[in-house]
Formats: sequence, C-alpha cells, structure tokens
Amino acid sequence: MIKKAFVAALIFAALTACSKAPTAQSILAAASAAMKADNLRSLEYSGSGLQFALGQSPNPDAPWPKFNAKSYIRSINYEIPQSRQVLVRTQAENPPHGGGQQPLVGEQTQTLVALGSSPWDPQMEIWITPHGFLKAAAANGATVTQQTLDGKVYNVLSYMAQGKYKVNGYISPQNMVERVETWIDNPVLGDMLVEAMYSGYKDFGGVIFPAKIVEKQGGCPVLDLDVAEVKVNVPVMLDAPPAPAPVMVTSEKIADGVWYLTGGTHHSVVVEFSDHIVVVEGPQSEARATAVIAEAKKLVPNKPIRYLVNTHHHWDHSGGVRRFVAEGAIIVTHQINQPYYEKTLALPHTLNRDRLAETRTPVKFETLNDMKVLTDGARVMELHHVEGSGHNDGIILAYLPKERILIEADLFTPPGDPKTPPPEPRSVYAINLRENLDRLKLNYQIVLPLHGRRSDQAELVKFATPRP
Ligand SMILES: [Zn+2]
Repeated sequence: MIKKAFVAALIFAALTACSKAPTAQSILAAASAAMKADNLRSLEYSGSGLQFALGQSPNPDAPWPKFNAKSYIRSINYEIPQSRQVLVRTQAENPPHGGGQQPLVGEQTQTLVALGSSPWDPQMEIWITPHGFLKAAAANGATVTQQTLDGKVYNVLSYMAQGKYKVNGYISPQNMVERVETWIDNPVLGDMLVEAMYSGYKDFGGVIFPAKIVEKQGGCPVLDLDVAEVKVNVPVMLDAPPAPAPVMVTSEKIADGVWYLTGGTHHSVVVEFSDHIVVVEGPQSEARATAVIAEAKKLVPNKPIRYLVNTHHHWDHSGGVRRFVAEGAIIVTHQINQPYYEKTLALPHTLNRDRLAETRTPVKFETLNDMKVLTDGARVMELHHVEGSGHNDGIILAYLPKERILIEADLFTPPGDPKTPPPEPRSVYAINLRENLDRLKLNYQIVLPLHGRRSDQAELVKFATPRP
C-alpha cells in the first residue's frame, strides 16, 4: 500500500515536472482563499454525533467505547490563541461495555480548554482544525510534498510545531484541508498518531467548513461529529483552565505491612512480603508511578518491588506500567493483556523519552486466567478474574484473606461524601462485582477502591444491590 502510494507520487512528480511545481505559499494562498480563512479570526461550530473514550476499550482489541455527543460546541480564537470544547454526552453502549465512566446516568458535560501556552496536547486541537492548520502552516514555514491517498493526489503541507511535533495537512485538488495528522506523547502508546478527517465542505454563512469531522487517536475514532452551525468572528475570550494538580502521594497504614497510597484521583496499594514488595496498580503516568515507587521504598526500605499487579489495561490504570518495568518489576495481569503490553511497551517514545526508553529493561510477565496466588509462605495475596464484567473483559481484583482486605478498580467507587445515596439504577458493574465476590466466597471486611476512598463490605453491598 505504501509502496503503491510512493510509486503514484513518483508518477505524479514526473508528470508535473515540466509545469511549474506549486510552492507551499501558493498552495496555502489558494486553500486559504477557497476556505475563506484569510479574514477569519475566530469561529464557533456546533453539532452532534458520537464521542469515544480514549484508552477505555472493553478489551485490548476493541475500539474505544462510544457515547452520544448530544451537543457539541467548539469556540476557537485563532489570534490569542484559545479553544474551548463543551460536550454534553449520554450513555450509548447498551449494555454498558468499557470504561469512560460508564454507565452514565443522565447527561454529563465535559469542558476542554486549550491556550497558546498549553502543552502540544491539548493545544494541537486548535491547529488540527482546517483553518487553524492553514494559519499555523503559514506561520511556521510549511514545506510541500505530494501524496496519493485512496486514489486522490494531495499536496501535503508539513511543519514542525514547537520544534518537535510534526504536523501534516492534506490539501485536496479542490483546495480543501481534508486531513490533518500529528503525533502526541501518550504514556501507553508513546508517539501516538492523531488524525482529523474533514469532509462535506460547504458554505456555512461566510466560511467554507466541513459538515463532517472525524478525529481518531491511537488508530480509532474519538469524535464523529455532524456540524450543524458555524459562526464566524464571534468574540471568544476564555479564562485559563486551572493548573493541573501536582503529583502527590500520601499513604495510610491499613494493616501490618499494607498501605493505601492516595493523594490524587488514582490510588495504589503497597504490600510488604518477606523479601520483596508487591504494588497493586501503577496508574496514570510515569510521574505518578515514580512517586508511588518512591513512597513504597520509603515505607519498606531495602526490599525490591518484585511485582506490579495491574488490574486492567485501561490507560488511566496502566499509564505507569512502563515505569515499573524499568524498575525491574514483574507485571502480573490477566493473560488477555500480555500480547497488548508486549506490543505497546515496544512502541517508540521519542517525543517524551521516559525511563524505559533509556533502560530498555526486558519485560517479564506472570499472568492469570481465573486465579493466581502471590505468597511468601506467611503473607497471601489472591488475585481473581472478575467474570463477566462489562467494564473490562480481563479485569482482576486483589484479596488479602488474613487481613480481610479487598482491592478493586473502577467497579465500585464510593462517593466522597458517605451520606451520598447510591445511584439509581445501581451500576451494573458494581452488581457484577458483588456477584463475583459472592461466587468466590471472599470474606472481606475492608475495601480499598483504587478511586475514591476507603470503604467496607456494608457500603459496597449497599451500592451493588438493586432496590427490591
Ligand atoms: Zn477502567
């Protein structure tokens, strides 16, 4: 396929060699005029369609789970620059399947703000829009090549953003920006491809804009939008979003040799064995994993972290796996995840060289299907597959029988205020968890959820039992 495209590009180059080759400037000028970008300072487009939760697939081979994008409004000021996306989404998968805060009850509003001072992700959301691309390509001295895609010859304009992030825009023979691609750093996929596809261009009252927008990240759609309205040069002046919270890890001793590591949105549990440490969950990112590892070593000095237990492959729970591999830990996870991790751990991380990119430590796995026990003779940790969970096909829980402690992710998350009543209807993921705990006859008392706060059996059962 690539070879075919290359040959086609060569033929095209040969055919056009006699005529004057178009320059990047002339292509930009023609596209900017055709798309009415010249005097465009800001715009607001709105519509509806589908949104998909990145990194939250029900299993490693499935696409991102979908949600209804009931309404979507995007405001962009290209001059300052600023962008705000307000998405109202509702549950679409029926029955619920995958993560992304399923099952959603009612409507949920998500707001995403990007500024010129933001990191490339999310700032790139401004510059991969069709008109944003033309403006950035002009400002950054884009160069041009020709490429054939699906039998169509495109002028591809390319530039490097912030000296490091490549951006390619595909200009059709009709002078429309039909595709923009760039790469962003991702803790799991490394240099992750972002693709935006634009089609159905028409006049939306002063600007030529696509009626259809499809954005993909990591190879699968994250947005499929039907544009209903576009407003040109409307005032867009946004407040800066709150700065992201610094990585903080706090620990609470739950039992002898058992600590609950919190301090952010995603928790871990440290368990001391006779000559090593087991950490349950390396979530989010290299930064969080580094802080969790430091805290584990502080709590249990002079013992290596031999095992990282990974509850499931969702990116917010596996974003720190690479850091634990670099630490020399064996990854303990459900067997459906091993091929996925073998593949993703080998992907290039050139945009953000992390520790594993430096150490290239070979990864070691110990996987389970139904059950596995980690023990040194005295301490026992049981790992069980949660059968039939809609959240994730390979999700596992950890259980310390002597301490009567249950550790679980995403299936039951107690609300911050203990007086908050359970959702109506109850989460099918929580109900399924309780059914598994009953089936396995686990005699737990303390619950350490990997989101939220410490809980107990009575509260879990209350949240996981439908009202009669
Ligand atoms: Zn999850």
